[in-house]
Amino acid sequence: MEINLISDTVTKPTPKMLAAMLAAPVGDDVFKADPSVNALEAKVADMFDKEAALYFPSGTMANQTAIKLHTNPGDQLICDRYAHVYNYEGGGVSFNSGVSCKLVTGHRGMMTAEQVVEAINPPDFYHSPLTSLVCIENTTNKGGGACWDFEDLKHIKTVCDQHGLAYHLDGARLWNALVAKNETPIQYGALFDTISVCLSKGLGCPVGSVLVGSQADMDKALRIRKVLGGGMRQAGFLAAAGIYALDNQLERLSEDHKKAKEIGAVLETLSYIKKVEPIETNIIIFEIDENELSSENFIAKLKQNNVHIIGMGQGKLRIVTHLDYTDTMHQSFLNMLKTI
Ligand SMILES: *Cc1c(COP(=O)(O)O)cnc(C)c1O
Repeated sequence: MEINLISDTVTKPTPKMLAAMLAAPVGDDVFKADPSVNALEAKVADMFDKEAALYFPSGTMANQTAIKLHTNPGDQLICDRYAHVYNYEGGGVSFNSGVSCKLVTGHRGMMTAEQVVEAINPPDFYHSPLTSLVCIENTTNKGGGACWDFEDLKHIKTVCDQHGLAYHLDGARLWNALVAKNETPIQYGALFDTISVCLSKGLGCPVGSVLVGSQADMDKALRIRKVLGGGMRQAGFLAAAGIYALDNQLERLSEDHKKAKEIGAVLETLSYIKKVEPIETNIIIFEIDENELSSENFIAKLKQNNVHIIGMGQGKLRIVTHLDYTDTMHQSFLNMLKTI
């Protein structure tokens, strides 16, 4: 039995999801004529109470499109130094939009409204890049699946309004935050100009992300997606997986969260584990006491037992629970952890 805990993106479609995909009515989505893509977009827009939505092949492309539509070349966006848009999108912010990032040192990937205010360049000081966008991430990936306090997000929204800044949410794992904090998509839709959500992580789809926003912003986004090469034809087969996942695999995220907390509790008892970061959702970040055992050795030992996890650099390791991590695997992994 292989137990893959490197990411929640390793899941494969369930037989029921595959059946839904095979049964999907499709058309050419580049002509906006794919009924399944149109249905998915309408469904997600409706969930967030936004005017429109657009289906994307990846979360990266959805974020990059949002950044492009909110900025002009030379502008600057504000984000936490842990942000995915800054660290893990291949430098796309500068490549695609000619924009720089003003990095804020927050707590577990989350910054305060005061820090955002400090990071804004005065708009009349033409020597500095013009600040035009604030990017938030919820849950935070590098921050260990941490969830924002909604009040903090509201405070930052007030700052954005006061300074005329656009407000984008990288919600690749927003579903996990909604389930963990008992929040609704509508709350988020009311706060942000644009939100990207992944269907290919906790929700278990093979592919896909959705960007939501105003009709005017999504009209711009459609053009940018085309430029980035993201126009797909009979994409309804994939979009149908998204519809199925939203209807059937959303609430179960709480099981991933429960398993993650149980793994964390066992890690806490191991002498060679120096620190386990607080676990709010499905990501566990922890540090090994390198004097007792090296991270490489720990990863190798797990691998001998058919368990796969990855390092994040700087002595930090990560475990991510997901749909394909079954109860049987969980029991076996917990027992194994206690013995190695
Ligand atoms: C996974 C992820 C994305 C998008 O990644 P893709 O692999 O391009 O779908 C964006 N933001 C965060 C925080 C993520 O974890």
